[in-house]
Amino acid sequence: MQTYCCIHNRRQIGPRTLVWSEKEQVEKSAYEFSETESMLKIAEDLGGPYIWGQYDLLVLPPSFPYGGMEHPCLTFVTPTLLAGDKSLSNVIAHEISHSWTGNLVTNKTWDHFWLNEGHTVYLERHICGRLFGEKFRHFHALGGWGELQNSIKTFGETHPFTKLVVDLTNVDPDVAYSSVPYEKGFALLFYLEQLLGGPGKQLAFSDFFALRDFSSAFQQITYVLQEVFLGFLKAYVEKFSYKSITTDDWKDFLYSHFKDKVDTLNQVDWNAWLYSPGLPPVKPNYDMTLTNACIALSQRWITGKEDDLNSFSSADLKDFSSHQVNEFLAQMLQKAPLPLGHIKRMQEVYNFNAINNSEIRFRWLRLCIQSKWEEAIPLALKMATEQGRMKFTRPLFKDLAAFDKSHDQAIRTYQEHKACMHPVTAMLVGKDLKVD
Ligand SMILES: [Zn+2]
Repeated sequence: MQTYCCIHNRRQIGPRTLVWSEKEQVEKSAYEFSETESMLKIAEDLGGPYIWGQYDLLVLPPSFPYGGMEHPCLTFVTPTLLAGDKSLSNVIAHEISHSWTGNLVTNKTWDHFWLNEGHTVYLERHICGRLFGEKFRHFHALGGWGELQNSIKTFGETHPFTKLVVDLTNVDPDVAYSSVPYEKGFALLFYLEQLLGGPGKQLAFSDFFALRDFSSAFQQITYVLQEVFLGFLKAYVEKFSYKSITTDDWKDFLYSHFKDKVDTLNQVDWNAWLYSPGLPPVKPNYDMTLTNACIALSQRWITGKEDDLNSFSSADLKDFSSHQVNEFLAQMLQKAPLPLGHIKRMQEVYNFNAINNSEIRFRWLRLCIQSKWEEAIPLALKMATEQGRMKFTRPLFKDLAAFDKSHDQAIRTYQEHKACMHPVTAMLVGKDLKVD
């Protein structure tokens, strides 16, 4: 009987990959994560050989507090990645990348957590870029900059947790956790990639304007820029494999690797990047091709008056990928609250309530609650409790508690559920809501 269960709880999805889950989710998980072997191969090309042998995935119950966790040989993932269209597979690319940056080269203390996460996001976006195109990499990079802005806004721009290198003396690392080490770390590496482009840089940019096919020219330029910095990344992994390191170790190696570009490196405002709170001193350059449509549509809604609402229709989204729908909502959320009439019209024309993609649903429900739509309260409470990924559960509870019509219910729901929540999630939601 046990053998029978085991067989049905796992599926081989690649030469070195089994996916394990509750048996009801096995088929869905096998489909969702079918790109794993392609991602592993690209990661090996970028980081060097995969040294851990097996790369399995375990889909955990919905209370798992993170998107993924990179244990060597066996990545844990949240079932909220099961969107049905592989659109959230970047999390798998992320966890795969940790096989090099995190598991093979590790931060010495949590003060230097950005070394794990910044490099991993950088590799993750390269993997997705190789699979889906360079513009896609830039689109997600820019989305990440937006996430960084959100975190800095939430903490406050002078808050010490918005520094890249933090001082966690007497601080619980779970309390300091945010997108800052991920996205500020990524932004630094992306900025260095563009700064250190190498001798090919100028030539490639002039080529760009000479060529009529802008799309392939763009691809060509960014490959020239990337190759130089990817060379550093591979050398970094090789140099520090099986070691735990600090930011100074990383920076010393950067200077020794680029010893012919010390003048360029000296242009970097290291103190601001590494040790100052708030946004980085420089914003990298992003290709806007895929983001522009999201900004344009969000602008129409934001500036639209009550009389303009009839101009919106389901056709607005017909050329959008689910990533772009998500980015559109992220743009709207930065301008929330919106007039309630706008939100109701948005539901009428786009029917976001029917979308189960967790990232889209999360942003949509936040937008509804922040715009004070009472009808969305049960939906937001449901999402906050039927899964426990902190990325979703914490902001949903916070928004519900900030809305007078759902405040009491949010507190009551938290108190009823906290015994069943993951202890880290329960502790942090309690802190966010200022209740025990
Ligand atoms: Zn990570």
